[in-house]
Amino acid sequence: MNSVFAHPSFDDHEQVLFVSDSSSGLRGIIAIHNTVLGPAAGGCRMYPYASMDEAIKDVLRLSRGMTMKNAMANLPLGGGKCVIIGDSSDANKELLLRSMARHGQRLAGSYWTAIDVGVSAHDADIMAEECDYIFARASDFAEDFQPSEFTSLGGFQGIRAVAKHIRGSDDLNDLRVAIQGVGQTGARLAALLIARGVKVVVADVNEQAVLNLRREHGVSSVEPSEIHKQDVDIFCPCALGGTINAKTIPELKCKGIAGLANNQLEQPENGRQLLELGIAYAPDFVVNAGGMMGASMPIFSGPDKEKSLKHVAGIYDSVTDILDQSQTESLPTELIAERIAMERINAASCNASRHGTV
Ligand code: NAD
Repeated sequence: MNSVFAHPSFDDHEQVLFVSDSSSGLRGIIAIHNTVLGPAAGGCRMYPYASMDEAIKDVLRLSRGMTMKNAMANLPLGGGKCVIIGDSSDANKELLLRSMARHGQRLAGSYWTAIDVGVSAHDADIMAEECDYIFARASDFAEDFQPSEFTSLGGFQGIRAVAKHIRGSDDLNDLRVAIQGVGQTGARLAALLIARGVKVVVADVNEQAVLNLRREHGVSSVEPSEIHKQDVDIFCPCALGGTINAKTIPELKCKGIAGLANNQLEQPENGRQLLELGIAYAPDFVVNAGGMMGASMPIFSGPDKEKSLKHVAGIYDSVTDILDQSQTESLPTELIAERIAMERINAASCNASRHGTV
């Protein structure tokens, strides 16, 4: 256990639970980073991690990221995340989801979970049969407007803000964008951009995902290893985390980065490196908060599409403010965003102590 407390990404997590179930073969981790603003909320990821170390690092970073994301999005929610170690194409996926959900139920509402890589909104419905604290369920939303639509729309706003910053105009016509990963969020974002006249190039390790987009929208594509090297205005990571790193940064030709993947920067120093290269980086947890804004509504009331869409549209102003402050203070954008998030958390914490609630 010492190794978890000493982990570089531990960052004072309130709880880290290792969960298992011999009947389903579940091996998973639930990480609750911070609950000052409200119950922890963050998706459930199912991924065939190569090692336990990899899974621990991922869940801790994702969970902390949720604290920042929810605070930046002005949601009364803290940050948490859970991971199931396994392949989402496995035949026993449903059993694993149900086991994880039963562990979630034991937390009695201090942690709410939802979709992420490998776990769909329909999977969230299955989990909700075992647990009262599941959001982003397919059944809560119209079939043609599922929770990840909000995420893609937020990504669109982030790209508009970065385009304005680097070109002086948020007219997207002829903007060039390279999208890494065209799964449930990246493909929809590509369609939104193409409809506004953006020239989109994509890559995905799943050839079928690329073929679908080529067929529907005639986009061009490159090999996954080449996508970040494209000569474009904006690079848009929508696959897994860590793709902005010491190896890829010198190969970037873009002027800005705005994408939906969580934890895009592999190391803390990567933000400073982008700043020094004059690349405008819109912090991932600000750009990809649209899903939380829309999908978390059922935690508090019922889904409200119009209200959520207004909230998501505000991502444009948040990214603009962060890019402006970063320029004025010569400070990496993700540090500016984390500072804003921490100010909100600290203010709530002080308020709670003043009123004797902690
Ligand atoms: P997804 O699994 O549907 O799509 C990810 C896509 O990336 C897949 O098509 C996969 O084949 C591809 N991919 C994986 N590795 C790749 C690589 N090296 N190069 C190119 N493509 C690669 O997942 P998603 O729901 O679209 O989420 C994408 C990212 O956005 C994740 O990091 C997720 O955590 C984040 N995110 C998603 C949501 C949401 O609403 N779904 C919300 C916030 C953040």
